[in-house]
Amino acid sequence: MDLGVKDRAFMVAAASEGIGYGIAEALARDGARLSIASRSREKIERAATTLRENYGIDCRAYVMDAADAQSIRSWTEATLNDLGEVQGLVVNAGGPPPGNFDAFDDDAWARACELTLMSAVRMVRCILPELRRQQSGAILTVTSSSIKEPIDQLLLSNVFRAGVVALVKSLANELARDGIRVNNLVPGRIDTQRVRSLDTMIAGKKGVALEDEQAEQHAAIPLGRYGTIEDMGAAGAFLLSDAASYITGATLVVDGGKMRSVT
Ligand code: NAD
Repeated sequence: MDLGVKDRAFMVAAASEGIGYGIAEALARDGARLSIASRSREKIERAATTLRENYGIDCRAYVMDAADAQSIRSWTEATLNDLGEVQGLVVNAGGPPPGNFDAFDDDAWARACELTLMSAVRMVRCILPELRRQQSGAILTVTSSSIKEPIDQLLLSNVFRAGVVALVKSLANELARDGIRVNNLVPGRIDTQRVRSLDTMIAGKKGVALEDEQAEQHAAIPLGRYGTIEDMGAAGAFLLSDAASYITGATLVVDGGKMRSVT
C-alpha cells in the first residue's frame, strides 16, 4: 500500500530493534526520510545502515536516552538541523522494569515516570513548534494492552502507560486546531527481545520450559501466534500517514484478538 509518506521526515524513538524498528522499516519501505534514535550508538547506527541499504532512503542515527530531557532536546535539534523539517514523531522507549507493588520504592516510581510518561511529554514538547509551524503532522505513541487490562508483574508499566493515553486523548483535542493528529498504538504480545526476556522470567518463576510458556501464551491469542514487528510497523505507518487523515485521539490495538473487551 502506498501510504504517501515518500520524502516526508519522521522521528522514531527507541528504534534500533523491536517495535520502533518495525515502524521505522515500514516508513522506510514507502520512501520516508528518517531520524531514528536509541541509547546505543553501535546498535542505532547498524539499524540506520540496514534501512539505508535496503530502501535507499535518507536515514540518520542519533544516540538518545528517552529518560533524559536534555538527550531528547538534543535529538530533536540535531534532526531538524540535519533533515530540515519533520512531519511525524513516534514516541517509544524501553519498558520499565517488571515487578509487583512491594518491589518498588519512590526512586523506582520516579525513574519509571521519567522513562514512560515524561519521555512522551518531552518528545511532544520538543517537536511541537515544528509541527505547529507546518500546521500539520502526526504523533504516535507506543503503549501496551495494560492500558485496558493491567498485566501481572508489570505494575509500573500499567500505571504510567495509562497516563500516556490520557495525554494522547488530551493532546488530540488540543492540537487538532493546528492540524496535528495524535494517536496511540497498543501492542499485544509482539515477538521482540523484551517479550523473550519477559517470557524467560515468567517460565523461570513457574518452573516450566520457555517453549511451554510460549505455547501457552500463543494458545491464549485467537490468531494463535505472537505479533511481528512487521505487524506493528504496518499499523504504525498507517496511523502516521494521510491514509489516517481523519483519525486522531484513537488507540489501535494490534494483538491478534487477545483482548476480549467490547470497546
Ligand atoms: P525491545 O526491547 O525489543 O526494543 C526496545 C528499543 O528501545 C530498543 O531499540 C532499545 O535500544 C530502545 N531503548 C530502550 N530503552 C531506551 C531508552 N531509555 N531510551 C532510548 N531507547 C531505549 O522492546 P519492544 O518489544 O520493541 O517494546 C517497545 C515498547 O513497547 C516498550 O516500551 C515495551 O514495554 C512496549 N510493549 C511491548 C510489547 C511487546 O509485545 N513487545 C507489549 C506491550 C508493550
